[in-house]
Amino acid sequence: MLQFRGPPPKLNAVKKERLSYSANAYHPSLGSETAAGLITFTQFTLRFESDLARLDIPLNELTIRVGQGDDARLYFDRVNDPEWSLYTLDFDILKDYAFSSNHHLRVQANEIFGRKYLRKTIIITAAFILFFFLAAFCVSWGMGQMVRHVVNRMPPDVEKSLGATALKEVQKRFAVVDDPKLMARLETLYARLRQGMPDTNVTVQFHILDTDIPNAMSIPGHVFFTRGMFDLLNTPEEIAGTLAHEMGHINEKHILRSIIADQGPARVLSSIFGKQSGTIGMVVLSSQFLVGRTFSKDFEHEADEDAWKYLVKAHINPRGLIETMEKLKEYEDRNHVNTSSILSTHPSTQDRIDRLESNWRSLKQKTGFVELTDY
Ligand SMILES: [Zn+2]
Repeated sequence: MLQFRGPPPKLNAVKKERLSYSANAYHPSLGSETAAGLITFTQFTLRFESDLARLDIPLNELTIRVGQGDDARLYFDRVNDPEWSLYTLDFDILKDYAFSSNHHLRVQANEIFGRKYLRKTIIITAAFILFFFLAAFCVSWGMGQMVRHVVNRMPPDVEKSLGATALKEVQKRFAVVDDPKLMARLETLYARLRQGMPDTNVTVQFHILDTDIPNAMSIPGHVFFTRGMFDLLNTPEEIAGTLAHEMGHINEKHILRSIIADQGPARVLSSIFGKQSGTIGMVVLSSQFLVGRTFSKDFEHEADEDAWKYLVKAHINPRGLIETMEKLKEYEDRNHVNTSSILSTHPSTQDRIDRLESNWRSLKQKTGFVELTDY
């Protein structure tokens, strides 16, 4: 068949060109079937045509609405004819010339288009924010992993010299008391606790600091208890709990990890790719500033988790750690001080208590702990 080729259409002819949009219609007379067909516009009506049905709605009686919730369909209602349900998924229909040329429809289309656009904007914004947080999370997690990698690759001498420098710093700032009785208590408890640690050969030195403020802290190879801490704690389980927490910091190399993380990604990366002597210097230099430094919440929780495992494995009742925490909180409340600002930090004591209580709830064996009466 030959096709007739006329002159190119004029611009206004294009505008008036009749477009069709696939749509579906439903009417009780069609039974359970939905008629699939096309919508076209004439000058005054919207026409739906299918094999099963034909429907004309005068444009001035036409109302448009979008489905609710997940229903993304566009419905065409006629007030006088509520039994018909006519809808399309083709939102391009709103751009049809019929809509821009009819005031009644234009107002409705603008409202729907505006709302749809707004929803899209909100979704895009939300997606962007989510992406940003995910990216930030990945970067910080990646940094943490890199730092861990660097720290694990460092020769033990780095930690040793770090410990030695930091010890001098502590001795400069605090009076260290010689109390053989308290030292013996710590030594014996540690011998017991060590049985629950992954590396049972870790040796540490204990020191008692001459201050009333209850606290404990650690640097590589050394654990410090204040006199105030012994005044606060009564049972051997509480002292063992505190000791276990400090051992968590030491075993996880938290001080070294903090120092390296402080230096930023460039230093961490350069340590990975070999300039290790620079890193050692940096670590030892930084160690002068680490005494009394505050640990991140993550490190505190990590130390608590480790402590819990050591205690349980060594058959020491881990409730001692919870009781220590409760006593510290009481002390903080009573004295209106935050112990975290004094020595090593223990952020949000209540949060830590809550986490440990949940550990206790999920602990299978809640009895049969070793009696620590002789300690
Ligand atoms: Zn801590």
